[in-house]
Amino acid sequence: MRCPHCGYREDKVVDSRATQEESAIRRRRECLKCGKRFTTYEYVEEVSLMVIKKDGRREPFDRKKMLSGMIKACEKRPVSMEKMEEIATQVERAIQKKSDREVSASKIGELVMEKLKQLDDVAYVRFASVYRQFKDVGQFMEELKGILHREKFKVKK
Ligand SMILES: [Zn+2]
Repeated sequence: MRCPHCGYREDKVVDSRATQEESAIRRRRECLKCGKRFTTYEYVEEVSLMVIKKDGRREPFDRKKMLSGMIKACEKRPVSMEKMEEIATQVERAIQKKSDREVSASKIGELVMEKLKQLDDVAYVRFASVYRQFKDVGQFMEELKGILHREKFKVKK
């Protein structure tokens, strides 16, 4: 590694540890010439995941895009950013496990919906209204009614 301070090419590693998510190794290095320290990160090269869109086109899986959908759905709801990140990671892992590493956009929507449903009804319905292709309005209303009913029940108790 070239020292960012003086450009010298030799250093020694003074500390190595996994990052919090264990997706990278962080190394502290010390330049053998100027003695200054710097940090490098080592990542596993990830095989990209492909998403098949409704019209059949494929595009690389975009975690940020998935997260922004969740953030919108969870606006002003008691779902923390940490929880949303957790869902994103779970969904990503589920896709990575698939042998062809391809997934339809609607399947991603379903996976996220499943998780949101357990956390927050309102966020779930908001998300579902965008991602699920409800066969008809009736099906969507049924879903809503069920949730509203549950909400009412909660209030009574
Ligand atoms: Zn140096």
